[in-house]
Amino acid sequence: EPVIKIRDLMKIYQMGSQEVHALDGVSFDVMANEYIAIMGPSGSGKSTMMNLIGCLDTPSSGTYILNSQDVSQLEDSELAEVRNREIGFVFQTFNLLPRTDCISNVELPLIYSGIKTAERRERASKTLERVGLGDRIDHKPNELSGGQRQRVAIARALVNNPSILLADEPTGNLDTQTGGEIMMLFEELYRMGNTILLVTHEDDIAEHARRIIRLRDGKIESDTKVDTPALEH
Ligand code: ADP
Ligand code: ADP
Repeated sequence: EPVIKIRDLMKIYQMGSQEVHALDGVSFDVMANEYIAIMGPSGSGKSTMMNLIGCLDTPSSGTYILNSQDVSQLEDSELAEVRNREIGFVFQTFNLLPRTDCISNVELPLIYSGIKTAERRERASKTLERVGLGDRIDHKPNELSGGQRQRVAIARALVNNPSILLADEPTGNLDTQTGGEIMMLFEELYRMGNTILLVTHEDDIAEHARRIIRLRDGKIESDTKVDTPALEH
């Protein structure tokens, strides 16, 4: 059974009298422990697709089955609950709370899940250790480098053991070397069994994945295996 099963997904925006078909009949499956890069030119539908997969929005039509649950037409409150349980987000701009220490940033998804303080602390600090920041738990984001901030964001994304890790240009604000280190961390997370979907416009980044889906004009243009992944080990 796939983690994600998407069939004939459409997202249509109304712009005055015009309809924009941001996604125009997209179908694919994602199995557990896949590592997929989503590519495509600006305006091809990548953000729209990430928003739907991440349960931030619902499609105009078509079905999206996430872990056997049809989430295509959920109400906002149900969608928020599924999102917090199933999805870990990593953004280009990290999106950390700036005045809040690392461990509290990482604990946030657990607060929404209703986990008690002691267990939250324990799980957040273990997850920070996993991303190599065990010695930084009480630092604030502005006391960390860009790469370290992204590690905190990745820990926050992982702390609830989500079914999918969704990353939108995760190296976009990092220099080449630091970006490479973050890609090594994704490789490690993939090898530990995580399912990863990554949006990027850079071939060098996409080649770390095992499968590349290319969008164009809201449709899948190609869906291919990566023969020689850019392994960084
Ligand atoms: P990206 O930088 O990922 O390609 P875009 O620049 O296309 O993203 O879009 C940035 C944000 O603006 C997205 O959240 C998208 O939903 C929204 N957006 C894009 N195009 C429009 C539009 N024509 N009208 C309103 N919002 C838009
Ligand atoms: P990408 O991320 O690949 O740049 P998007 O998903 O942001 O593509 O956009 C796909 C298409 O949908 C574009 O034509 C964009 O202008 C349009 N679009 C995206 N979001 C909105 C929105 N909120 N309102 C109207 N049009 C939008």
